[in-house]
Amino acid sequence: RTSESEVSRKVLLAAPRGFCAGVDRAIRTVEAALETYGAPVYVRKQIVHNSHVVADLAARGVIFVNEVDEVPEGSVLVYSAHGVAPAVRTESADRELRTIDATCPLVTKVHQEVLRYADSGYEVLLVGHQGHEEVDGTLGEAPDRVRLVDTQEDVAGIEVMDQEKVVWLSQTTLSVDEVMHRVDGLRSRFPLLEDPPSSDICYASLNRQTAVERIAPECDLVLVVGSTNSSNSQRLVEVALRAGAHAAHLVDGVADVEEQWFEGVETVGLTSGASTPEQLIRQMLDYLAERGWPEPDEIVTAEEGQVFALPRNLNII
Ligand code: SF4
Repeated sequence: RTSESEVSRKVLLAAPRGFCAGVDRAIRTVEAALETYGAPVYVRKQIVHNSHVVADLAARGVIFVNEVDEVPEGSVLVYSAHGVAPAVRTESADRELRTIDATCPLVTKVHQEVLRYADSGYEVLLVGHQGHEEVDGTLGEAPDRVRLVDTQEDVAGIEVMDQEKVVWLSQTTLSVDEVMHRVDGLRSRFPLLEDPPSSDICYASLNRQTAVERIAPECDLVLVVGSTNSSNSQRLVEVALRAGAHAAHLVDGVADVEEQWFEGVETVGLTSGASTPEQLIRQMLDYLAERGWPEPDEIVTAEEGQVFALPRNLNII
């Protein structure tokens, strides 16, 4: 017998969600490196910010390190999707490592913009989160010419050398709202601040934000599947709350879900960050089904067909 509350229960599944082209490429790169060179293959930092992906690759012979000096000389080292500063490449060359670069091409694009502006005498105000690996890599392209703008205090305190030669760029995984908020603050201090040639927020971050924004107003609860260090997943929680979800939580998998979150909930929204395997969404749907929730309605706000080719020195496979 189905109760009335069960009849009105709904699960809305956002699309696009999960793997983006950059994450897919980074994981395929490590797999190809394993196949070509055999284990162990070293990876600097987490290849993508997802604990399940990292654990799976570690079980297959990947050794994750924080810095290049932990890698034995002559070994194979893969750079993660988030990119690296030039100083890291120099260090690898000094250790005679065979390096394979899994940096997402959309992160590389921001590095190239930094170099172009720095070469033309500009100062770059980089909107991003302090300590994120992508930001460390981007800053490293021109440390004397790039200033990080993370908080409102940064906006208030930042000084530039020449007010007529400033441009802003951003980390790829931020939300549009937070970036524009910082840029408005910066522009009120530096009226001649230039915009980037195109948005640095990547298509995948943008599409996942738009999708969760669509379902959130109808949701009592939104679950975002992603690891706690995944920037784009954290943004999905914030976007869901701003768009009207009553509650939103970031969960690494079903083990993180708390039963009491569902009290009084009729509509659950579900999405996942760009580094989250789809299998974790399926586990979440199984979890809901076991508790009497219906099959999900998938709400599609964009189609994605992007695929990035593997790094050139892996095309030998
Ligand atoms: Fe590239 Fe965007 Fe995916 Fe990051 S989230 S790996 S920038 S496509």
